[in-house]
Amino acid sequence: MKYKRVLLKISGESLAGEQSYGINKQMLDYYASEIKSVYEQNVEIGVVIGGGNIFRGLQGANKGFNRTQGDYMGMLATVINSLALQAQLETLGIKSVVLSALPIDPLCEKVSSRRAIHYLENNHVVIMAAGTGSPFFTTDSTGALRAIEIKADVLLKGTRVDGVYDKDPEKYTDAVKFDTLSFEDAYEKGLHIMDLTAFTLCKENNMPLIVFEMNTKNNFYKAVNGENIGTTVTV
Ligand code: UDP
Repeated sequence: MKYKRVLLKISGESLAGEQSYGINKQMLDYYASEIKSVYEQNVEIGVVIGGGNIFRGLQGANKGFNRTQGDYMGMLATVINSLALQAQLETLGIKSVVLSALPIDPLCEKVSSRRAIHYLENNHVVIMAAGTGSPFFTTDSTGALRAIEIKADVLLKGTRVDGVYDKDPEKYTDAVKFDTLSFEDAYEKGLHIMDLTAFTLCKENNMPLIVFEMNTKNNFYKAVNGENIGTTVTV
């Protein structure tokens, strides 16, 4: 495999599958099996899952209540998703651990880069929950931060689209996909790949990013294997 240690970011929304809310068991099984196929190649895998299938801070703010409180609710939503993924990985016989940015004894240990690396080196899939532990951040930023902290070779952002286009491919039939891009180009072209905090973290810390479509079988494996799927963004 091209990459030895990766950070996979999956959105919470995608866990809902066809449902508009919550955890779709089929999607959970699917993500766990995709992770398994890469794990079996002795790749060290860190995972960050979003919480949008359960709650987003802005959702609360739009309904008139405190943004900070809503953000904590969103972070807790990522813990629920992380525990669900861990349970599914366990049924597949994969060792995994959930490390949380907010202390939730006795469910998870507190996240730290040292602890995460220790578990990775001991063949655990390391799921990093509760975002950054701070409101006003996103799980994309968490993915970037954790990728840097665990010294991952690459941040893999699994999405619904198969890469980065010059314009919205769902609206324009002549949209062109980029195979590779620099962070500078992406910024200058105003391409929305991740929020700017996440984007800047990757750029300033020389963390390559691959945006790829996660819902096609074996795509995660192919991306880790260095096959040309999705869009690779580098410094
Ligand atoms: N969140 C936060 N700080 C973080 C990460 C997440 O406050 O460091 C909150 C925020 O409210 C966000 C929610 O958790 O809306 C769920 O995360 P996100 O929207 O990124 O999930 P996704 O869109 O990937 O499902």
